[in-house]
Amino acid sequence: MRIDLHTHSYLSDGTDTPTKLVLNAQAAVLDVVALTDHDTLDGVHEAREAGRRVGVQVLPGVELSAKYGGREVHLLGYGPRPDYEDLNAELARIRQGRRNRLPAMLERLAAIGVPVSMTEVAAQAAGPGTSLGRPHVADALVAKGYVVNRNEAFDRYLDRRGPAYVSRPTIELTAGIDLLHQAGAAVVLAHPGIREMHEVLTGEVIEMLARRHGLDGIEVDYPLHDIATRDLYHRLGARLDLVRTGSSDYHGTGKTGHDLGSVTTRPSAYRELLSRIAARGGAVPAGR
Ligand code: AMP
Ligand code: ZN
Ligand code: FE
Ligand code: FE
Repeated sequence: MRIDLHTHSYLSDGTDTPTKLVLNAQAAVLDVVALTDHDTLDGVHEAREAGRRVGVQVLPGVELSAKYGGREVHLLGYGPRPDYEDLNAELARIRQGRRNRLPAMLERLAAIGVPVSMTEVAAQAAGPGTSLGRPHVADALVAKGYVVNRNEAFDRYLDRRGPAYVSRPTIELTAGIDLLHQAGAAVVLAHPGIREMHEVLTGEVIEMLARRHGLDGIEVDYPLHDIATRDLYHRLGARLDLVRTGSSDYHGTGKTGHDLGSVTTRPSAYRELLSRIAARGGAVPAGR
């Protein structure tokens, strides 16, 4: 049984439609795929329908960008009830904030000699309903030939220390965990070893999240986690009784090195995740 629990469609910053993503999961010989777009559940319905047609189990999810110690950290919420209004309202607020600060970022880019227009940014969305943010600004910078790829765009201009960075409203990490729990989701700490996350997500902090806030799991296996990092989180997760997942963070052609199904979750960990979702009153996939 092959299981990949972290993927993005064009509704956030991936490039596949939800249907195409599920077809690609089938081609990658996956039995289970979770759709975890950033701050939106809009692709979940279509993905589940496609999954039903082709016999791939689709676990609905969302990747929530939160902040801790002034840094951006990511949470994966699995199985939130789609009709839980408080979560939907918070996601809408985050999406609006992400988009509303883009004009200020574009002004800064123009001021330093790499102008892109809002139309050029919007043209990077692979379909209607995309939640526009920095990844699409990065893609526009690539399209205009200023940089060669998304990573260079973030390194030179868009990351937190970059000259074009403008912050946006984000939920606090512990409030994000509580909100996802209220929606019935099981909550997994996404890729704690990457970028600035590893600076703030120390062992003590992860232990606090597990003991005081009921964190359910930790993404141990991840393309950008080296062997030592995986080993560290594996042992920490076992000690704290966290579900230890593994996933690709597939973004279609939006990111290289994250091929669908290239990193997977053990079936026993997936079963444990489903039972945690059920215990929290969330939505588990039908037909399992
Ligand atoms: P935004 O929500 O508009 O602030 O954009 C944040 C998103 O950009 C994150 O969720 C990541 O997918 C992506 N991102 C952030 N930092 C980087 C980076 N250094 N390199 C590539 N992608 C990044
Ligand atoms: Zn992303
Ligand atoms: Fe992430
Ligand atoms: Fe992701």
